[in-house]
Amino acid sequence: MLTKGKQLLQTHFGYEQFRKGQEDIIQKVLAGKDTLAIMPTGGGKSICYQIPAMLLPGVTIVVSPLISLMKDQVDALDKAGIPSTYINSAVPNDEIQQRLADVYNGKYKLVYIAPERLEVASFKRMIERIHISCLAIDEAHCISQWGHDFRPSYLQIKHLINDIQPKPVVLALTATATPQVQQDICKLIHIDNENVVMTGFERENLHFQVVKGQDRDRYVLDYMEKNQGQSGIIYAATRKEVDRLYQLLDRKGVSVGRYHAGLSEKIRNEQQEKFLYDDLTVMVATNAFGMGINKSNVRFVIHYHIPRNMESYYQEAGRAGRDGEESACILLFAPQDTHIQSFLIEQSDMDEQRKENEYGKLRKMVAYGHTESCLQQYILQYFGEKKPPECGKCGNCTDQREQMDVTREAQMVLSCIRRMKERFGKTMVSQVLTGSANQKVKNFGFQNLSTYGIMKDKTQKEVNEFIDFLTAEGYLKPTDGTYPLLMLTEKAGEILKGNEPVFRKEKVQIAQIVEDDELFERLRQLRREIATEEKVPPYIIFSDVTLKEMSGRLPLNEAELMQIKGVGERKLEAYGEKFLVVIQNYSEEKGIERKTFSPSYVIEKTTAQSSKQPSHQITYQLLQEGMEISEIAAERGLSTRTVEGHIVKCDQEGWTVQWDRFLPHECEPLIAKAVKEAETTRLTPIKELLPDDISFFMIRAYLQKHKEVL
Ligand code: ADP
Repeated sequence: MLTKGKQLLQTHFGYEQFRKGQEDIIQKVLAGKDTLAIMPTGGGKSICYQIPAMLLPGVTIVVSPLISLMKDQVDALDKAGIPSTYINSAVPNDEIQQRLADVYNGKYKLVYIAPERLEVASFKRMIERIHISCLAIDEAHCISQWGHDFRPSYLQIKHLINDIQPKPVVLALTATATPQVQQDICKLIHIDNENVVMTGFERENLHFQVVKGQDRDRYVLDYMEKNQGQSGIIYAATRKEVDRLYQLLDRKGVSVGRYHAGLSEKIRNEQQEKFLYDDLTVMVATNAFGMGINKSNVRFVIHYHIPRNMESYYQEAGRAGRDGEESACILLFAPQDTHIQSFLIEQSDMDEQRKENEYGKLRKMVAYGHTESCLQQYILQYFGEKKPPECGKCGNCTDQREQMDVTREAQMVLSCIRRMKERFGKTMVSQVLTGSANQKVKNFGFQNLSTYGIMKDKTQKEVNEFIDFLTAEGYLKPTDGTYPLLMLTEKAGEILKGNEPVFRKEKVQIAQIVEDDELFERLRQLRREIATEEKVPPYIIFSDVTLKEMSGRLPLNEAELMQIKGVGERKLEAYGEKFLVVIQNYSEEKGIERKTFSPSYVIEKTTAQSSKQPSHQITYQLLQEGMEISEIAAERGLSTRTVEGHIVKCDQEGWTVQWDRFLPHECEPLIAKAVKEAETTRLTPIKELLPDDISFFMIRAYLQKHKEVL
């Protein structure tokens, strides 16, 4: 039966091979074993029940918590040629009856329902009459009280399982479950431990980063500028903050939407839809947004405030990069924000035991903000993975910034604020510190303060930034309102007394997530036109990964297009020609001579994907076989940056890397000189001293090659 499953994977979804875990899970389901599947977001959970649904008799019921997701899934299945439908409160009653009648008549293989439906008597009567061979429970952590998203209606599922005769095979799926929650799910729906399939929580394409001690608004604005046109979500803790950030970005011309529970349902739906359809690039939202958002090309998720626990964080941040492309997850960490979350827990109607549990989780979230070790490792350990390796690419793994002792400067600022009786804002304080001749300063007689002009070697902007740093680190607390006054905190007292030092790191450099790619943009444009015409979100037509692969490999004809990941028979027939035309025009315009795919491509793609080897090792193998970075990237549908990251990771794990391959001989003395001059091994300052054609990766190669002596 599994061979049949593989065929379906190719014809309906356009994929050659199952991903890690999928085969095992599908095999168990087909063998009638109740199973718990724990796979990371974007790991490909849906296929684990969609393929069995086509192979088993009768229908598969999929319980899913959010309405918007159902519509998306059904639209996507429709495009793949798989008959399915959904039933929820957004569907009018007579339509529900019709759909149920169609289900009864065998028109559909999959039926998506919201858990609340299980409490409706007429629905319960109806399902007694149909043959249900599989029950898939999506977001299965919602069944556990110890999860972060407990839904009482999920408890009804237990009864459903008992009521349906003959008993269907049950497949519970989740991406976020701590060991405690996993146990709980197994207990509640009677799944044997041996039928728990966990592929690990790692999301290889996500780049985690914690940014602290920086002005958050400034950071967000700079980030938008550097990553213009990229789709992203910014989470903030309160509606008020969402509105403020929305206005801030809107005024700067960012294509931005907003979403929180204070807006009417109509506006929320409208905003969500625009974001899904790529009509809005960035969404600022509270955590009310996103559950059930299946948009695959979200390139960054920024948390402006700390979320309540690691499960929420990983789930929200994990909305980035579902398509497997390189994406960023950034937490703007300010320790004082913890109070908002403590307050929310305190105000909630949870009993004492659950509150305690929540406080414990919050503490672990805060520790994430403080940790200096690998961020991905921290997350994976939190979810119960034993000894995960360092990722080698998160903000902490790659942090080579130096730490400076700024205790004296901090004392200058804090004592100046104290002398100004904590009655002024940032501008006035920095004017006094830099010795400004401003009339207002004189009017208050501040030129007579001992702190007047004490920082005159700095610009006002530098002092302002330093004040932002002290605020972010919790030494200062601005009052609310349009003109916030700077107040000292208890922590500031310790600094003034000289009991504690203050250290500061340089600002974090903002990275550009996606390299410019003109053909990809054109294919994206075509996809958008088709999506608008067909009234579905663009990623349902083709994912970014598929478009990237098209742009990297330039298929010549339909047969080659069919070899691209994500192009199945249906989609080839519906859209193939249009995409080929764009590729052809582009190639002609640029004078690019397209070559037929090498026959080894399919074989390599197959062996690489089917092996259980970690991705960086597959890269290593291809490298050893003599392929160039760009070839590996195109072959594997990855960005060159990812491939470069793989190479560094291999080196860190002790594999021999021939760095000379990436380091032209004549560049070495130049880089050596720049490293010496920059007095650091950080890439950016070194790069600034070098000609443009020496890439970051060449510098990296140089540093890795000479790491013993540097
Ligand atoms: P999840 O529900 O686990 O978050 P999805 O089921 O939405 O993930 O799958 C994420 C993406 O991975 C989708 O674009 C899906 O089509 C793709 N995908 C799933 N299985 C495979 C596979 N075997 N090969 C390539 N891509 C796959």
